Amino acid sequence: PVNRSEEIQTARLGLPVVGEEQKIMEAIHNNSTVVIWGATGSGKTTQLPQFLFEAGYGNPDSPNPGLIGVTQPRRVAAVSMANRVSQELGQYSDKVSYQIRFETTVSNKTAIKFMTDGILLREIADDFSLRKYSVIIIDEAHERSVNTDILIGMVSRIVDLRKSMSEENPSVKPLKVVIMSATLRISDFTHNTSLFRQGPPPLVQAEGRQYPVTVHFARRTHRDYVEEAFNKVSRGHRKLPPGGMLVFLTGQNEIRQLSKRLKQAFKPTQRGDTTQAKVQLSANDAPLEAEDLELGGTEMSPADHEDDDSDMEITGLDDPEEEDDGFDLGEDAMDSSTKVHVLPLYSQLPTKEQMKVFEPPPENSRLIILATNVAETSLTIPGIKYVFDCGRAKEKQFDLFTGVQSFQIGWISKASASQRAGRAGRTGPGHCYRMYSSAVYEGDFAEYTDPEILRTPIEGVVLQMKSMGLHSVINFPFPTPPSRHGLAKAEKLLQNLGALSGDGRVTQIGRRLSTYPLSPRFGKMLYIGHQHGCMPYVIALVSALAVGDLFVTENQFNPTASPAKKKNDDDDSDDERKKVYTNADRLEDTEREQRTKDFARVQRLFSKHDDTSDALRYLSAICAYAYAADGDAFSEKMFLRAKAFKEATQLRRQLTDIVRSNSPGLVGDYTARLPEPSLKQLKALKQIITAGFIDQVAIRADLAPIPPEIPRTPRRAIDVPYLTLFRSRSDGSAQDDVLSRAVFVHPSSLLAKLSPKEMPQYLVYSHLQQSSAHNIGSEQQPKIR
Ligand code: ADP
Ligand code: MG
Repeated sequence: PVNRSEEIQTARLGLPVVGEEQKIMEAIHNNSTVVIWGATGSGKTTQLPQFLFEAGYGNPDSPNPGLIGVTQPRRVAAVSMANRVSQELGQYSDKVSYQIRFETTVSNKTAIKFMTDGILLREIADDFSLRKYSVIIIDEAHERSVNTDILIGMVSRIVDLRKSMSEENPSVKPLKVVIMSATLRISDFTHNTSLFRQGPPPLVQAEGRQYPVTVHFARRTHRDYVEEAFNKVSRGHRKLPPGGMLVFLTGQNEIRQLSKRLKQAFKPTQRGDTTQAKVQLSANDAPLEAEDLELGGTEMSPADHEDDDSDMEITGLDDPEEEDDGFDLGEDAMDSSTKVHVLPLYSQLPTKEQMKVFEPPPENSRLIILATNVAETSLTIPGIKYVFDCGRAKEKQFDLFTGVQSFQIGWISKASASQRAGRAGRTGPGHCYRMYSSAVYEGDFAEYTDPEILRTPIEGVVLQMKSMGLHSVINFPFPTPPSRHGLAKAEKLLQNLGALSGDGRVTQIGRRLSTYPLSPRFGKMLYIGHQHGCMPYVIALVSALAVGDLFVTENQFNPTASPAKKKNDDDDSDDERKKVYTNADRLEDTEREQRTKDFARVQRLFSKHDDTSDALRYLSAICAYAYAADGDAFSEKMFLRAKAFKEATQLRRQLTDIVRSNSPGLVGDYTARLPEPSLKQLKALKQIITAGFIDQVAIRADLAPIPPEIPRTPRRAIDVPYLTLFRSRSDGSAQDDVLSRAVFVHPSSLLAKLSPKEMPQYLVYSHLQQSSAHNIGSEQQPKIR
């Protein structure tokens, strides 16, 4: 038996799932596939693996010796849930491991393995029968990520396969599958007869959230939700009883912005006055300057004070808006000297930083976590009592018809909103403050988010499935099948890359491409990368391109002034806010200028081989990074994203190994530090890039076979219209209006620095992106990157 600590023992007994243990285990015993539905916090992720472990699964001497595999859609969940289960398992803590891309703790002791769903998919490619597992738990099935969907389709077939294998050979055991979901949005698969041919699998319900969460809607829905989050969280911190806060925003820029403001607003000063700090101070400012700045702060004009409606002393309880903000819980607020402990949580953050949110905050401080929707499901962050939900998320949208990809900020679904609220009730009763009105919630929120498979390019999925022998992708038991058009488009691209034959069979090239953990485009670049000794460069380049988002953008290191300074469009007050130029502002501006100069210098350095190729700039950066003695310091200095470079470097190693085992002799041992590429090699590299993006070519509009009328001569490079080889916009604009189909170079591209006359006739782009600003539904033409 497992010796659990008293504390863990008591906590487990309160979990709804534990109350259903017998029913659940019986269902698993009697069926090959079981679906478990239990609200967030009911104990699915932490308890199910333990039930199975205690029943002997994963024990080499039991009738079910194979591993207990648990998949998660996100890395941070795989790591943190493995840690938690390991803690709960007392003397068996070393039986629990995790594996995420590039990182694993799996050993020969492992019985329970947490992993991302991508890892398990790769394992299926290596062994379609998954013999090393006795049971697979697919967690968070309601999230409907592409990988989860495909996994569910795959395992439904693997269950059949293992069954027939075990009938022939008793040493092979049948596979058990447990699908877990926090919402009931699972009828898509439970009632899908192509998925479960023997009829729907049994559904075991573990009802009830652990602790009640009170939901407070806002009276009004502010458009500038970052500003609103600042106001709400500041007020909440002053008025609410002790307890951690979790704030949902949409992206890392917003998180940084809000984090900076909160830290400043609650920076302890000698007088213990926490509300006054409006000035911007960087950590290494000399004390003398700080004094100057405080002077600037006290001299704030009345106009500035009005601006600052986060200031309790001024707005106070008289403000009718605040009467029902839900912060008056009839308990005492925290001591007014309580500091804030603000931590970010988003997927680009290094794992070590992410794990900080699970540690207790310093004494006499309130934990405030600013998160994207990585915190929406799976994670339990101890001590979170208050959730602030902006109601939006940044989601990848993909136009299947045109291939235009965009990150749009849009309303979340009702199901997501309830997941977010659930975060507040995991370790005690809690409150969720929604920064939107109940009218918006009822009127504008969909019940559920569309499954990701309907919003993403699927050529990689199609190739992977075909090379696993699933030729007729269209007949694959997808929980939600992708559109016929999307499938056809993916096959077309794969044929263009030479990965599929005319009749849709995987070619030798295709087989090769599918061995890379990469989009087939990048696979193609590696496949032809051997000419002129280019292979090490192609590997480095592909690693950089595949990880993507390598550079800190200008907007990130010099964010546009805080939204409070801009005119607030949903604010009723008609007087335009005056900007008071303080010493602090002046200092800020000087710093900004300096950073802009440094940035330009760095960009010149990375584009020395070719000042028109963004891809080669990636190559220069990753090669330069390899020469740095201290990667983090180098990244900081060179405006690089350290985490992305670490990942790209790991990918370089991994790809080198794959290339070496695929085609011995093509590359030598992995060498991080490469000599400068020759001119011949640079030219070859550009051809190789083009081969990967063969279908993504654009021509300068004035050179098109039938040039459209261009009303004004473009004054900047980013105004020069291009036309894509394939139609790039699906909207209903009149057909003769060719210009409405035009695309433009993204301002972050090196090309944006050219004069309009220098713009190339043709260019190859990696993606089209619909730009979107803060606002939902903004309309702009796609930009090329
Ligand atoms: P589900 O998967 O059903 O959403 P979990 O198994 O993740 O639920 O969590 C069940 C409960 O276990 C939580 O509500 C919480 O009380 C407790 N718990 C989980 N992880 C932790 C943790 N890291 N620290 C403290 N308590 C935790
Ligand atoms: Mg869970």
